[in-house]
Amino acid sequence: MTIANNSVVSIHYTLTNAEGEVIDSSESKEPLSYLHGAQNIIPGLENALTGKAVGDEIDVVVQPADGYGEKDEALMQAVPRSAFEGVDKIEPGMTFHTEAEGNQISVTVVSASEDEVVVDRNHPLAGVELHFAVNIVNIREASAEEIDHGHTH
Ligand code: ZN
Repeated sequence: MTIANNSVVSIHYTLTNAEGEVIDSSESKEPLSYLHGAQNIIPGLENALTGKAVGDEIDVVVQPADGYGEKDEALMQAVPRSAFEGVDKIEPGMTFHTEAEGNQISVTVVSASEDEVVVDRNHPLAGVELHFAVNIVNIREASAEEIDHGHTH
């Protein structure tokens, strides 16, 4: 069978950026399983997998628009240093978890001064060209319950 909507697909993948640095990989882990057509994974990768079969190895380049989006300058915010009560040291590159509109998000510190911290709420991979090397390990039909839930069990 080939990958179509409502397939449960298992893949091994290595994700690198345009410079060839590894960002993420399923190597030495369980393969990643997802429900095809349910937007469990980014659109650029999901689209490239449609029609593929077990054993296929594909290389996909995903532009930010089909990945985690472009960087949005509006998501860079200056917040008072006092919002980080109890944190001794704040340095660029540090990440903090916070809640926004009921969702858990992580923010990255861009810069920090004595009274102000500039944080970036963009996804860490926003604006990044994604290079996936994918190996399709398994394909099966989703159960009615999985389709109903929109994810694999
Ligand atoms: Zn479920």
